[in-house]
Order: sequence, then structure tokens, then C-alpha cells
Amino acid sequence: MADKRDYYEVLGVDKNADKKTIKKAYRKLAMKYHPDVNHEEGAEEKFKELSEAYGVLSDDEKRKRYDQFGHAGMDGFSQEDIFNNINFEDIFNGFGFGGGSQGGFGSIFDLFGFGGESSGPSGRGQDISQIVELTLEEVASGVSKDLDVRHKKKCPKCNGTRAEPGSSVKTCPQCNGAGQVKQVQNTPLGQFATVSKCPQCNGEGQHVEKPCTECHGSGLKTTTNKISINIPAGVETGTKLRVSGEGDDGIRGAPSGDLYVTIKVLKHDLFRREGQDLFYDLPISYVQACLGDSVDVPTIDGEASLNIPAGTQSGSTFKLRGEGIKSLNWSGKGNLYVKVQVVVPKKLSAKQKEVLKEFADVSGEEISHVKKGLLDKIFTK
Ligand SMILES: [Zn+2]
Ligand SMILES: [Zn+2]
Repeated sequence: MADKRDYYEVLGVDKNADKKTIKKAYRKLAMKYHPDVNHEEGAEEKFKELSEAYGVLSDDEKRKRYDQFGHAGMDGFSQEDIFNNINFEDIFNGFGFGGGSQGGFGSIFDLFGFGGESSGPSGRGQDISQIVELTLEEVASGVSKDLDVRHKKKCPKCNGTRAEPGSSVKTCPQCNGAGQVKQVQNTPLGQFATVSKCPQCNGEGQHVEKPCTECHGSGLKTTTNKISINIPAGVETGTKLRVSGEGDDGIRGAPSGDLYVTIKVLKHDLFRREGQDLFYDLPISYVQACLGDSVDVPTIDGEASLNIPAGTQSGSTFKLRGEGIKSLNWSGKGNLYVKVQVVVPKKLSAKQKEVLKEFADVSGEEISHVKKGLLDKIFTK
């Protein structure tokens, strides 16, 4: 109902109107549009709209929510909840018609028509959730996992009927199985009937004579079942997978809830993941960086060969196309980015030092310590 009118506007009152003013405004308009008096087309709709507005604005708590959140604040309330606030007798008595239902409006007018199956709990089973931890390798390949799922399933003893075997389930005598009862208020304009949940059977329409001793009459029993789920490649932490029907069972033939599996991807020793791309730090030697080399680097599902060109600088990044993680949403794969780090040796042998001195010489490099004969001190540190 996106085009729902503002409740204050409906009643034609100011936002700061006090309760008396609101009541007066409603009474006046309700008298005009009550469908028993006004037979014009749309009068009934108008009357319902007025009554809904009044139901909210006459209740401190609901009015506060409405002022703060608008119609969205009323999401948790059914029309029935709202109308139940209204004391119609009070509204119409005060208008000078006197008490009782005389005056020619004797018919029961099923004003708000909360009939059918929409009232009362639907009986659908609860959704449940569970976390599954995956390694990055499992994410890359996709994996089938066996989960121990704890959920409420149909009680095996009573088969979900809630009654001890041999005993019976009777139709509720108060509501005759409808699950709801009509409450009639007498008003000068006639009798108003509102329909609400049957208090005796709590809207279920049935009465269990002897509750099942196994499930204490709930019809459900908590059990743990092994459920195998296929997790597609490419999921990430926070991805939710729905397993239909593996939540709690419904009651009275209502559908079962679903199981929601939330993925948690474990940290990997070698790879860092960003979306579908992987990142890997590769240590190489000064000589490899200078002369170039061909090396094997680990990938998520094996190894790949990487060509390091001569003269590679520390910190350079190479892309291995398609060696990342498969996407959940498209057919392609991410890349593996290899960042090389030139590692400077901490210890050198006398021979290595000798060669390096020569290298410096040949390069025309002047290292002050070397000239002062302190080279040994530097390299043995
Ligand atoms: Zn049972
Ligand atoms: Zn009942």
C-alpha cells in the first residue's frame, strides 16, 4: 500500500491534535461513512480507512510509532490489531443515539471481514541457520559437505498429529474448527462484528484430547540429521545458501522452514583473496632479480611456471591469468597476482663477499666501507 494516506490527513486533524479532538473528528466522519448509513460506492472503504487511522492515533503507543516511522512503523500490526483498539460502543453512544441496537440497524455487519486462513499462526516451520567453514581450496573447487543439522522434525510417535496414539483430535467446540471467533459489539448503528483468534484453541481450530507424551503435544521433536550439501565454487565469507525444507517442520500440514548455511572461509597460509583474485608474495634472490629466472609458483590447485625477466625490481607484480577463484556469478575466474620480493642474504661466505667486492669494482661502485677495509664488518653482521 504505497499510496496510503497520512492518518492525520484522513481524519482531517492537526499533527498535534489531542485525543479528544481526534475522537471527535473520527466520530463525525464515521457517522457519515458508516456503510449501514451511507450506501454510496466507496463508503465502506472510506469507513475502514477512517477506522484504521483512528485505531492508530487513539492509541498512545501506536501513535508514537506512527509519528516516528510513518506507515512503516505499523508493519508489525495487522488491521485486526488496530481495529481491536476501537470501542465502537463508546464512539457511537456519545453521539446521542442512546444505548442498545435499536434504530433500524439491526443486521450484523461483518465490518472488517478477517476471515479465511489469514488469521492465526500459519504453522510454517522455523528457518534455521548454520555456519560452515571452508578452506580456500574447497572454495576454489566447490565441495560437498555433510552437515549435522539440529532441527525439529515431525514427532515419530504421533506422526505430527500432536495426539497420543489412540486418542483423538477433536474440532474445537468454541469455534467449530474455524480457529477464530466473532466478537459482537452493540452500537446505536447496529452490531459490529470483529473477528479474532479463538482463545480456546489458540486459532488452531482443533483440540487435542491427550497430548502426545513424546513431544508434549507440540507434534515436533528435535533431532540431528546428516545433510549433504553441494557448495558451489566461488563462495565467500558471508555467502548464504538455502537448503529448502531442512529447517523445522511445520505443524498441521504447513510447510517446513528452510536451512540457511552461512559460509566462513578460513585464512590461507599462502594466498590472500580479494574477490575472485588471489595474491601471493614470492621471495627471489638478488641474482634471480638481476639475471632473470623461470620459477614454479604455487597456485590454488597446483603449480604454474612464472618467468621473471632480467632486471626485475623488488615489489614488481606479475599476473597469472585465470589462476584465481571461479566466480559464483559468471563463468570466468579471477587472476593470481605474484608480487616478487628480493631477499638480501643476511650471511655471506668469504667467497661470496669476494665476488661481490669484485662486482662492485667492475660496476664502478664506490662503497666507502669497502675502501676502508671494513667490508667484513658489514657482511658478517
Ligand atoms: Zn508426538
Ligand atoms: Zn477454537
